[in-house]
Amino acid sequence: MINYRIFSENPHGHFLNIEMAITNINTQFIDLQLPAWRPGRYELQNFAKNVQRFEVFSGEKNPIPFQKITKDCWRIQSDNETVVVKMIYYANVQNAGSSFVDTDVMYVNFVNCLPYVVGRMDESCEVEIHLGQDYKFACGITPTFSENAKWIFSAKDYYEIIDCPMLASPYLQSKSYNVKETEFTVWFLGNYKPNWKKILADFKSFSEKQIEVMGSFPEKDYHFINWILPTAYYHGVEHRNSTMIVLGPDSEGDNLYTDLLGISSHELFHTWNICKIRPVEMLPYDLTKENYFPTGFVAEGITTYFGDLFLKQTGIFTVEEYLKELGTTIKRHFEEDGKAFQSLIESSYDLWLDGYVKPIPNRRVSIYQKGAVIALILDLEIRLKTEHSSSLETVMKLMWEQFGKPFIGYSLNDYQTIAEKVYGESLIWYFEECVAGNSSLEERLRTLLTHFGIKLQSTEDGKLHLELVDNQNENLKKWLQ
Ligand SMILES: [Zn+2]
Repeated sequence: MINYRIFSENPHGHFLNIEMAITNINTQFIDLQLPAWRPGRYELQNFAKNVQRFEVFSGEKNPIPFQKITKDCWRIQSDNETVVVKMIYYANVQNAGSSFVDTDVMYVNFVNCLPYVVGRMDESCEVEIHLGQDYKFACGITPTFSENAKWIFSAKDYYEIIDCPMLASPYLQSKSYNVKETEFTVWFLGNYKPNWKKILADFKSFSEKQIEVMGSFPEKDYHFINWILPTAYYHGVEHRNSTMIVLGPDSEGDNLYTDLLGISSHELFHTWNICKIRPVEMLPYDLTKENYFPTGFVAEGITTYFGDLFLKQTGIFTVEEYLKELGTTIKRHFEEDGKAFQSLIESSYDLWLDGYVKPIPNRRVSIYQKGAVIALILDLEIRLKTEHSSSLETVMKLMWEQFGKPFIGYSLNDYQTIAEKVYGESLIWYFEECVAGNSSLEERLRTLLTHFGIKLQSTEDGKLHLELVDNQNENLKKWLQ
């Protein structure tokens, strides 16, 4: 077992003390690696830049020699069976993937600051957090309190601990609801007065819908961890049995709730689509370098499309509200990168290049927006061809059963095979034009939407919007019900 301790001697300065005890060493040296990126954001973030001090001791006192062998890997010489590593980590970023410490909050994404022993990632680990008994913990792992004000988090391996971010504060509020055997908890930290009755009803409704569509839920418990800030923010990250969401500003009541619903439904669907239905290129994760995968449009495009669709299908959004959201995604795609040179596959690789900043004009496409547009196209095509007996939901349920449950990873080819099986014939045109191509999909989408009573309108100044022209359209009703 690998043991970690986290405390803060200097919360005002936003520094975390990280200690790590490694036992059972039987080699001349060990390598300690800090991740260079985190699952959920496919770009190098080089967390080692936040390590202010790094020291190694035998037991508590005697320093042991070590050297850096890469930007984020330390080689420790050791004749000892046990070594203790002491690090000071700068934790001063309030977003959904970083770490932050202050006098009344400790927020740790363990992937940022816990190194792993190369070759020993499968060992169980225990993290001891030194905070008072008045603290509450929003985390996918429920801690136990022991003597000396230590909170103990146990994980079956390194992959589990880094997939369970922890938000701790005496000021957290929470309520839970159940769907079948799974307990869902919604947490809030910040200046926010939750309308619990509405939140629990809405969240239960979209959770039930997603579980009904996919057939079963992968986890026994799930946590929506929401941190509401006074500044404008919109950021969510998916995890094994939780999502970390940062939203703001806290002054925006209704708008903030619409954002909360949209992002929460999106992140919950990731529990299947990427946490379990994982691109084979990322199974297991290599946390030291880029993990290229061509299927960003499946992971983020389908999740973006379904996130809002489920809110309509459960009646949380009206038809008009849903078409407004969908129209925004379509408009953004065609206006921002409708003329881009790259395909979705190329842009999936380029996530690692500049996927999270504004690209140069007409080069990259967004795997979120174009991915959602082509998810819509495939969903509507399958519905028309099968008279609504199948849909993109059928595709994702099969992906869950064949690749997610056995946790074996899927390739682009696997996804195409399942989509074609559901569609009932070849989809080469779809994969060539929509996935691997770069031609405009505007006319194809315009024609398709007319079968659903919706007009994709272009205004004189070239702006696009969706107009509902026939709200009694049978295809429309079957799609959105
Ligand atoms: Zn996402």
